[in-house]
Amino acid sequence: MHTYITTTIPYVNARPHIGFALEVVQADVLARFRRQRGDRVRFQAGTDDNSLKNVLAARAAGAGVQEFVDRNAEAFLALGPALSLTVDDVIRTSRDPRHRPGVERFWRACAAAGDLYRKRYAGLYCTGCEQFYTPAELRAGRCPEHDTEPQRVAEENWFFRLSRYGDRLREAITGGELRIEPAGRRNEVLAFIDGGLEDFSVSRPAERAGGWGIPVPGDSSQVIYVWFDALCNYVTALGYGTSDDGYREWWAGPGRRIHLLGKGVLRFHAVYWPAMLLSAGQPLPTDIFVHDYLTTGGQKISKSSGSGADPAALAAEYGTDAVRWWLLREVPRVGDADFTLERMIARADDELANGLGNLVNRVVAMIHRYRGGQVPDPLPVPAGGEDLDAACRQARDRVGAALAEFDFRQAAAAIWAIADEANRFINRVRPWELARSEDDGDGQRLDAVLSALFGACTALGRELPPLLPDAAARVVGQCTPRDGRLPPASPVFRRLGSAG
Ligand SMILES: [Zn+2]
Repeated sequence: MHTYITTTIPYVNARPHIGFALEVVQADVLARFRRQRGDRVRFQAGTDDNSLKNVLAARAAGAGVQEFVDRNAEAFLALGPALSLTVDDVIRTSRDPRHRPGVERFWRACAAAGDLYRKRYAGLYCTGCEQFYTPAELRAGRCPEHDTEPQRVAEENWFFRLSRYGDRLREAITGGELRIEPAGRRNEVLAFIDGGLEDFSVSRPAERAGGWGIPVPGDSSQVIYVWFDALCNYVTALGYGTSDDGYREWWAGPGRRIHLLGKGVLRFHAVYWPAMLLSAGQPLPTDIFVHDYLTTGGQKISKSSGSGADPAALAAEYGTDAVRWWLLREVPRVGDADFTLERMIARADDELANGLGNLVNRVVAMIHRYRGGQVPDPLPVPAGGEDLDAACRQARDRVGAALAEFDFRQAAAAIWAIADEANRFINRVRPWELARSEDDGDGQRLDAVLSALFGACTALGRELPPLLPDAAARVVGQCTPRDGRLPPASPVFRRLGSAG
């Protein structure tokens, strides 16, 4: 099975924040899990360079646009190694030679379908969102995303006949061709469609855009609207418009095409983009998963406000595992979550250092102390070990079921259950008492207990990689014998907090 997984391509008007880290880590977990299951996976990321926002931010910083965009794009690309992401390909819309020809071809396909026309238009425009708002959509006259006053803009633009596609979009969503999760977001999209779709403008005067962006084919006085341009990245990265092989394999062929995105850009991905694809005669994405937002210390995070924790800096200081674990273990599928450094540290110390790390450490140490470091043979589950055995055996299916619903917290819980049950089991059976006993039966029982516990550690090494690849490698290292003996026990996680 082919699985194509995309994250949104962020504007590079500032450095990335922890909210964007959530999306790329979620995508990475899906990609890793599906690869582990044997799927062919392509995890696609990129940066949205052609935004008017970038032009304005560059001007404010007194820098050239390309130089400014390059610098911030670097910071986004650096997230890959910092968060151990297995991104297969990155597309940068201003620089990648695949992008512009694909966007132009897409434009021409929509034009050929009769869906593009010129119209004079006046409206309220938020540069932060790069979109027009109707007065009803504003909150007290201000942009609901940015809380800024939109600009009144009057100009002649190219429009896309979105109004044509309401019925087909509704059909695709209700018929299951286009799945939108969670259900609340699906309902939001359906309500928007039912409210009546209006054509939207898909170009800007080249002059207002400062000449930045892709010129409209055949009309150099206009540049293609950044959203039309940006959404096309999902297919131009595959070679749409340049070399079609990748496109045929990953988009036009059988398999899943999964977009991950934040709630603020739902309409672009679940309405505009599918309508554009229908117009261009191309298949729709199969799945759209929408995450909510993170706050930090109760404040909304935004790149421009500078309030977002820097995920690469966090990973450098506290480790990739701590950052990934917090994002996966604490952020609910529905509803916002509040990030604080204290919460991240507490979660990592409680569960990674004290729970999971300590478990592996104790088990390896006991196998050394009681059995000379020799890995116990697999034995039947000892009495009292039934819950642990179930947690180990069911983990893969539980993670799979959770990820099929994009429920990363449930997936993390399924893996945490192994460590949790194993620690309970140790406290219940007290292996050190069995070791002190001179009774033969207790000796055999100790073998079975160590076997079960070692099985739990290897299960962690097997199931952790999609979520915590770095930690998984260390767990596997601890559980891999050399010359018949396990390596000496050494901490799998360091404690991050100073006390408690
Ligand atoms: Zn806005």
